[in-house]
Order: sequence, then structure tokens, then C-alpha cells
Amino acid sequence: MKINILHAGYCTAPEHIAIHGGRWRTIHFPAMFALFRHPQFGAMLFDTGYSYRFFDETKKFPKRFYRWMTPVTLHEEELAINQLSTFDLRPQDISHIFISHFHADHITALPDFPAARFVYLPHAFGHLRGLSPSEDMKHAFLRGLIPSDFDSRSQEVDINKTILLSEEYAPFKTGYDLLGDQSLIGVELPGHAHGQMGIFARDESGQVFFFVADAAWLKQSIVENRPPHKVANFLFPDPEAYRKTLKDLQTFYFTHPETHVVPSHCEATIRAMEKL
Ligand SMILES: [Zn+2]
Repeated sequence: MKINILHAGYCTAPEHIAIHGGRWRTIHFPAMFALFRHPQFGAMLFDTGYSYRFFDETKKFPKRFYRWMTPVTLHEEELAINQLSTFDLRPQDISHIFISHFHADHITALPDFPAARFVYLPHAFGHLRGLSPSEDMKHAFLRGLIPSDFDSRSQEVDINKTILLSEEYAPFKTGYDLLGDQSLIGVELPGHAHGQMGIFARDESGQVFFFVADAAWLKQSIVENRPPHKVANFLFPDPEAYRKTLKDLQTFYFTHPETHVVPSHCEATIRAMEKL
């Protein structure tokens, strides 16, 4: 399998919110997505980055607050559909999109891929189904981003089919074999959002990537076990689980130095990975 790490757009936010003790300056948070080209399953994505739909969906109040909280910059050539052409791929070539969680910066381009199956942990979307529109903002959920045929194209992860993970993944003990061939292993990373899923992926040269989504916004948070400012706890459904996940990531990072740990919004990490 070939793996490419890309991003579509970025938002800005204060560093001291993203990491405890961070500087009082605004930094960029690129919206990462990954392209997997699998010999059997073809082209697949992990998340999608931003698309222009984010701006359409946040025109009116109260959703306009979303835009104010995280001002977004997006260039046309960065759109996932446009970057695919570099790889000789068309939008309809994407067979699966693995969704880490349903915050807008991870799903805005879902409607651009007409043939993709959507793979995610059931509780990542389950709690959003029953929300009234007035509760959307509390969950950073923009329901207009969900394609109208979302349910019929969904392939929820069967959470009754966990696999025991080898020492190679410690301290993560159980996961999900997302394609049945062990090429993509999903693990739950609780705390930041309901049912957040990270993915282990190995490329054809044997390099292992661990996509940790928003379990940490910056690699430095993992290395130093430094969570965000406590004001960010208001955004998280389970701040205590967030801390536990961050600690597990730190343990993993130091015991598996050969694995590329990739948070979805860490600019330094993503820039380094895009050059690989
Ligand atoms: Zn995010």
C-alpha cells in the first residue's frame, strides 16, 4: 500500500489554547487527510480536510461562530478532489473514506466522492443522529456536510469484532481490522469526540504510520504529555479520557520511535510528512 499525507486548508487558533503553557500567538492548524492506494481495495482516504462547503455551511448565525472561532484559509489547489488528479485519480475512484470523527474539518469534502463507502465507529455518528439542529454547535457538527445518501453508503465498524493487538501496538490492546487484511487497524482514541478513531497503516516500504486525529493537536503535546489549556475541556465530551489517551500516545511514542505518529493538525509534522 502507498500512503500519502496531504492537507486541504488550515484554520488558525491561539497556541496557548492548543497546548498548556503555549505561547500567546496564533498558529496554523492544517486540515490533514491521507491517501491510501491499496493493491486490492484501490484508492481510499482517511478524513478529507476542508472544502468550500465549510463556508457555505457557516454563513448564517449561530453557525457563523464556528468560522469566527476557527478562521479557515483554503486554496483551490488544496481541495482533496484537486490533489487526487496529481495521482491520476478521479473522485469516483475513492472506494472508502475512513472518518476519524465528525468535526467539520475532517468531513467537509465527503460529498465530493460519489462512490466512497464511509467507515467509522458507530458511536461517532450515533449521538449526532438524535440531535436537534439547535444542539449542533455544541458538538461542532455541521449537518449540511453529511451526504444525503450517507446511511446507504455507510459501513460502520463492527465493534463486536475487536482484534487483540500484538506488542507492536502497546499500550493499545484492542483494535479493528478495517479491511480484513490487517493493512489498516483502527483504534479508539476517546476523549476529544465521541467514537474518535485513529488508524495504524503500514506502507509498501514497511514504514508504519499512526494517524491519531485530534487526540492531540500538536506532536509536542504527545512528546511532553501536555494537554491543551483547560478551557478546551468545554469542547471535549470526556476530558478525563482525553488525558488517558494522551498519556497512552506518549507511551507509544517513546516505545515505538520508528513509527510516524501523525496528529491531524500539527503543522510541523504534516509538512515533514508531505515531503516524505
Ligand atoms: Zn480537527
